[in-house]
Amino acid sequence: MDTKWKLVIIGSGPAAWTAAIYAARAELKPLVLAGEQPGGQLMLTTKIENYPGFSDGVMGHDLMMAMRQQAEKLGVKIIDQNAIGLKKDPSGFSISLTSSDPSPFITASAVVIATGAQALTLKLPGENRLMGRGVGTCAVCDAPFYRGKDTVFIIGGGDSAIEEALEISKFASKVIILVRKESMRATPIMQIRIKTSQNIKIWYKSQVIELVGDKKLERVKVNKDGVISEFPADGLFYAIGHSPATKWLEGSGVKLDQNGYIITCDQSCKAGSGSARQPTTNNYLTSTSLPGAFAAGDCVDFRYRQAIVAAGQGCMAALDAQKWLENFLP
Ligand code: NAP
Repeated sequence: MDTKWKLVIIGSGPAAWTAAIYAARAELKPLVLAGEQPGGQLMLTTKIENYPGFSDGVMGHDLMMAMRQQAEKLGVKIIDQNAIGLKKDPSGFSISLTSSDPSPFITASAVVIATGAQALTLKLPGENRLMGRGVGTCAVCDAPFYRGKDTVFIIGGGDSAIEEALEISKFASKVIILVRKESMRATPIMQIRIKTSQNIKIWYKSQVIELVGDKKLERVKVNKDGVISEFPADGLFYAIGHSPATKWLEGSGVKLDQNGYIITCDQSCKAGSGSARQPTTNNYLTSTSLPGAFAAGDCVDFRYRQAIVAAGQGCMAALDAQKWLENFLP
C-alpha cells in the first residue's frame, strides 16, 4: 500500500467515516487510519434510536460497520492501526503508526483528525459484563429504553450528571444521582433545574463499589456515607467526564484546550461575516491551529457528543480539507 496520500483521516467513528465518504466522492482517494479497535464509542452502545433514517433503530455496531462498508465501496483504503504521532514539515504531514507494517509512517498533504473521546468509567466489578446491559455512559442516548422502569442511578456531580438525570427522569419512576462529595460541582442553573423535579434524588457522599447482575444490571452496591448496602437498579450511567483521544497529538502543534479537546476555528476564529469571509490557510470552521489539519467529532465537541453531530462535522472537515487542498496545497 502507498505511504503518500493526499488526505489521511484518522479515526473510525461517525465523523471519520463521513469524512471518508465525502472525500472519496470528491476524488481525494483518502486513507483511513481506523485504529486497532475500530468503531469508536458506538461499538459499545446497543440500540440507537436517534440516528435519523432508521425507523426501528439501529445497533451501534451495525451502524459503524455500514458506514465502513459504504466508505470501502467508494474506494476508501483502510489501515486498522493507531496513529501515535503527527508532525508537519514544509512537504506535508507525517503520521507515525503503531507498527512498521506497511510502513512506520504515512505521509499526507492534509489530515482530518477524528479520533473521538472516551467516556470515563470507574472500572467497577461487574462493569465489563454489564456494559450495554443496564450500564451505560450516555443516558441522553438511551433514556427511552427506561420507560416504565423503576430506578436508575447516575454517577457524577457535574452538569452532565444533571442533564442525564433530567433526561432519564422523563421515563423512569426514580432517578438517583450519586455524588461522591458533600456538594455538586454542577453550575447553579443546572442545580436549580433538578430541585423542581419530583423524581430525582441526590445522595451525597455516596459511591458505587460493585455492579451486580448476571445478564443485565439488577442491583448496585453503594457505600453511602460509610455504610455499604445493595439497592435494586434497572440502570446505571456514568457521568464522570470524558477524555478526548488526543494525547497522541502532543508536540504536533495542534492546539488543545485545557481538557485536551482540539481547538478548531469554529471556536477560536474571529470570523468575518457570510460571503465576505475570505479563506486563509486555517480559517475553515474545522481548521485546527496547524494549516492543513482539520478536526471533527468528539475529539473537538465537548458539548453535544452525538453521533449525528460527529457525522455532520466529519462532512464539514472533508469539505474544508477539499477546499484547502484546492486553494493552498503547497
Ligand atoms: P465534570 O464537570 O468534569 O464533572 C465530573 C463529575 O464527575 C464531578 O462531579 C466529579 O466529582 C465526578 N467524578 C469524577 N471522578 C469520579 C469518581 N471516581 N467517582 C465519583 N464521581 C466522580 O464533567 P461533566 O459533567 O461531563 O462536564 C464537562 C463540561 O461540559 C463542563 O464544563 C460542563 O459545564 C459542560 N457541560 C455543560 C452542559 C450544559 O451546559 N447543558 C451539559 C453537560 C456538560 P467531583 O466534583 O467530586 O470532582
